[in-house]
Amino acid sequence: MMGDSVTVVPLGPGAFEGRDYDEAVRVGTIVRRNRSRLVANGVCPACRGQFDRQLVESDQPYMTAAGYQIKGSCVDCGQVTAGDVRETLLSHPAVVSFFWRHDIDVREPYAGETVLPPEDTITERSSDPLTLAVTYRADDDELTVVVDETVTVLEVE
Ligand SMILES: [Zn+2]
Repeated sequence: MMGDSVTVVPLGPGAFEGRDYDEAVRVGTIVRRNRSRLVANGVCPACRGQFDRQLVESDQPYMTAAGYQIKGSCVDCGQVTAGDVRETLLSHPAVVSFFWRHDIDVREPYAGETVLPPEDTITERSSDPLTLAVTYRADDDELTVVVDETVTVLEVE
């Protein structure tokens, strides 16, 4: 569980070799975050080709937050993946440094519950073209990141 969403990360047997449950969870988190970061940067997690991503409305149970999901597809190998916008934005320097200033390391697996805000902190700023705002909170501080439909960061407030 990451915040209010369920996470599924496929891991091979090697991921469990010589690791206890917590360590395996940590591996799963690292894999998921790295995949998320590749997608955020337009790189295919499978073949490293060009990855197109789009924020779309979604009613899927996984990787959907506030009715939206990042749908990505590779123009080279056809790989398709879905992402949670809150997690994808975790690799943005503004978000990393915001949490770091509050002594939270976004790379830590159990920081997931802290760094993934509840779905109601995602708001639609406009519908056509689509822009979403995601608000992260730490202590009494807030950081809002506004993205367009290609998940490009437009502003940080
Ligand atoms: Zn690919």
